[in-house]
Amino acid sequence: MPMETEKKINSLDVARRQVDIAAEHLKLDPGIREKLKQTKRELTVHFPVKMNDGSLKIFTGYRIQHDVTRGPAKGGIRYHPDVDLDEMKALAMWMTWKCAVVNIPFGGAKGGVQCDPKSMSIQELENMTRRYVWEIAMMIGPDRDIPAPDVHTNPQVMAWIMDTYSILKGYSVFGVVTGKPLELGGSLGRLEATGKGVYTIAQEAAHIQNFPIKGARVVIQGCGNVGGTAAQFFDRAGAKVVAISDYQGGIYNEKGLNVAEALSCRNQYSCFITRESTGWETITNAELLELKCDILIPAAIENQITHKNAPKIQARMIVEGANGPTTPEADEILRDRGILIVPDILANAGGVTVSYFEWVQNLQELLWSEEEISERLIRILKKSYAEVLHISQREKVDMRTAALMLGIGRVAEATRLRGIYP
Ligand code: GLU
Repeated sequence: MPMETEKKINSLDVARRQVDIAAEHLKLDPGIREKLKQTKRELTVHFPVKMNDGSLKIFTGYRIQHDVTRGPAKGGIRYHPDVDLDEMKALAMWMTWKCAVVNIPFGGAKGGVQCDPKSMSIQELENMTRRYVWEIAMMIGPDRDIPAPDVHTNPQVMAWIMDTYSILKGYSVFGVVTGKPLELGGSLGRLEATGKGVYTIAQEAAHIQNFPIKGARVVIQGCGNVGGTAAQFFDRAGAKVVAISDYQGGIYNEKGLNVAEALSCRNQYSCFITRESTGWETITNAELLELKCDILIPAAIENQITHKNAPKIQARMIVEGANGPTTPEADEILRDRGILIVPDILANAGGVTVSYFEWVQNLQELLWSEEEISERLIRILKKSYAEVLHISQREKVDMRTAALMLGIGRVAEATRLRGIYP
């Protein structure tokens, strides 16, 4: 989503500075620190796709494996005009820490294609997906690197990935990708997992901050699989979702939006702004982030909360549904202002956690019930929240530093135990 950021902040710089901050606290060996700031494997591919008008278009795609010390690489595939190598590397790094924070046996990866999916037909998207999978097939596999949905990819795209990879292998390989449709080895509960996780983690944070979710004013940037689902969970719990947006802008109602109506309007018109509706006023994404609220949920893309708007944020706490929405400078400003940030690698880990359940079910060829999935997800997230909080209190650091210390510490320890070959 191209939000209102002026100059493009390099996410890889941000991710590497975060490693430095955590490494200082952990007193990590300088060589290990350097290793963790690098990515293990990077594949860039340029490939042609037949477009509907008969022309050929060349796309650039990536698949990055940041670290596989704790298990196969895991991470989503993003279709977006801003996709580039550094962004992919940063997102892959965050996946490594995220999987380690919730203690699931995966490393981190990310992939994507630089494209504008909104301007492409279904057929073009399918052609592009299948050719991209063919190009990165040497990297992925159920025991080495398992993609999943991310910005502008969905269960249908995952089905094409699974199908293309299976055709290459000559048999159906369900465990090569997660976030698949239920009919094709997908897991119950995966679709809502990230949004549900954001809600669950926000509940934990609100509890510690001593305010109830019921009646809390919630502002959400983004209405996709993360923001839209989280909005529904907050609404059902009696919170007041006062604002929500997409990449074009948002809507606001001081008394609380009718979430179902807002989302169905967005679905129908691909935009919130319709003449028929009077239940809200329109606002920009920049205005939305600065609204007075109890819980602010950035659930779009990176670098939305920077040193520029951090002094104007009026939320009691920020729960990061997106990956990397807050820069280190903004972190500092918000910490000094007493605003709690629950970091991405904890707050949005519900998605990859249920991806792990899906992968396990695929490998074992069995099915877990929705209750089992939900119970295991909530147990893992609550335990991870408690662990991060404990480190934060013990080390007197903010929640982001604590989460990075937990995740990076686990990866560093696994690296130490495996040793350096030869
Ligand atoms: N793209 C999601 C994330 O950033 C999910 C990754 C996965 O399930 O592997 O966490």
